[in-house]
Amino acid sequence: MLYIPEPLSLPEVLWYSLLLNIAIYVLTLAAGRMIRYLYDKKMVVVPRKKMVISWLTIMINTGITVIGYVIWQCGWIHIVPGTWQNTFTDFIVLFLGMDFLMYVFHLLIHRTFLYRAIHGLHHESRDPVPVDLFILHPLETFGFGFLWIALLMLYPAGLYAIIAYLAMNIIFGLAGHLGLEPLSEKVRQNILFRYLGTSSFHHGHHLDIHCNFGFYTTLWDRLFGTWKETNNITNTD
Ligand SMILES: [Zn+2]
Ligand SMILES: [Zn+2]
Repeated sequence: MLYIPEPLSLPEVLWYSLLLNIAIYVLTLAAGRMIRYLYDKKMVVVPRKKMVISWLTIMINTGITVIGYVIWQCGWIHIVPGTWQNTFTDFIVLFLGMDFLMYVFHLLIHRTFLYRAIHGLHHESRDPVPVDLFILHPLETFGFGFLWIALLMLYPAGLYAIIAYLAMNIIFGLAGHLGLEPLSEKVRQNILFRYLGTSSFHHGHHLDIHCNFGFYTTLWDRLFGTWKETNNITNTD
């Protein structure tokens, strides 16, 4: 018999969403710390300002999760049953779809007044560390969140694909702000990794804000002429 869970009340959704987002934050920073430790990178003390902004990002992401849930309850987001076949296709659509939308959004905030007003905050770190993944202006966090909700409204994806995408989003986000490159040059020259957004790729964007606007892939940067080869991360420690 098919088990259909009771819809959660709004306070329940709020609490679950808050706990989930806090867990993601803590685990991401712990993983970042561990990787930096393994690669002999210095341990950074997160300044108070960054702590406040990163927690604000967590609160906003919680709000976006709740908004997504309400929209789903209203029937404007359709989540289809997950099968092996559609999980793969849906994941690719979400992966490339969000990568493209975020590329356009990111390029737009760099090429307009929005850079100084909003995105400059993220670029205060030229040599980013894991917490910088969460150092975003509130409007930017909302912007990325609404792009994600818009894509889900347009494309009815399977639940497993959505979960896989969200996990992958954290992995790429952390990789881009590790402050080190865990992949060897040989691996990065591999046909698959050559087109993926590696640590060096996003770190390269922090070092030179005129290139590498993509997140998961280098495809859109290569296509629109904003790609720059970033061989390795050279930083101070
Ligand atoms: Zn960044
Ligand atoms: Zn940027």
